Amino acid sequence: MPYQNLQSLAGVNHGQIEIQNIVSSSPRKYACHCKRCKTEFNMTHAALRQRLDSNTPIPCPNDNCRLPRAAQQAREKQYFQDLKQKERAANEAAEDRRLREKYGVRSEPPAPPKPSLEQLDSQFQRTASELARAEKQRIQSGLPDPEFVPDPRYDNAKMTNSEASEFNDRQCQIFMDRNPDWQAYQTSANVDILLDYIWNQGVRIISAESYARAFRRLLQYNLLQPIEPEIEAEPEPMPSMEHEGYPAPTRRPQLIDGWDLQTGEPRKYTPYELDRLPAETLRRVLRIPTAPIVRPRNT
Ligand SMILES: [Zn+2]
Repeated sequence: MPYQNLQSLAGVNHGQIEIQNIVSSSPRKYACHCKRCKTEFNMTHAALRQRLDSNTPIPCPNDNCRLPRAAQQAREKQYFQDLKQKERAANEAAEDRRLREKYGVRSEPPAPPKPSLEQLDSQFQRTASELARAEKQRIQSGLPDPEFVPDPRYDNAKMTNSEASEFNDRQCQIFMDRNPDWQAYQTSANVDILLDYIWNQGVRIISAESYARAFRRLLQYNLLQPIEPEIEAEPEPMPSMEHEGYPAPTRRPQLIDGWDLQTGEPRKYTPYELDRLPAETLRRVLRIPTAPIVRPRNT
């Protein structure tokens, strides 16, 4: 075997793949890193050597990475266009059916009345919520979220696996300290959802900012289950007539029902979140109607 076949491959770059440190000695395996999608994987020395010698690309195990970026974006765009098209066709068909029923079958139905602003608005709302539902489904099925942008300060950061996992843990703590909202969601199930979501975005070095962005995105789509507000154990019943028939006071209700402005679906808000909203947004979130101003009249 020629000498070069045994030489360490650590540090070699081949296309989008960077060969890193040796992770096992027999068979000799290396940690590899895809620079395009940041996926980490291991490959044997022999397999890598063969790719290098024949000058063929080292395949990235991430299926989504194999699509060139432009093709992936085109596919996403097409998906949403198709959805809008279907929505339009369905609306037209429904309108057509309505007219046929109203006027009997005619070769040329009378021109439909022009839609009012209100109708247009509700149609727009429906399309928007249809799109939001599609995006929610994408996220739930583990596809990359085109709207998610991780903290750009770490776009080109490089760390070993153990450095990254230490960094991620530290940053996660910072995220939790800085985002009191998270308290209402801090369960192991939600932690898994958050980490899976970030993983699906191909992000491996996770700053506090990236955690926060992912958290906001999941909140937006109602994908986290808030902790049920705790109800304090009822105190021992007092043998007093005064308390009979009165319910024991329950502990502060932690979450407030409201509406998500993006998706139009109901969702719960923490008092902290509501506190930070501008008055107009708060009104819309809680669907408080604007009262006409009534001035007292002089008599
Ligand atoms: Zn890749």
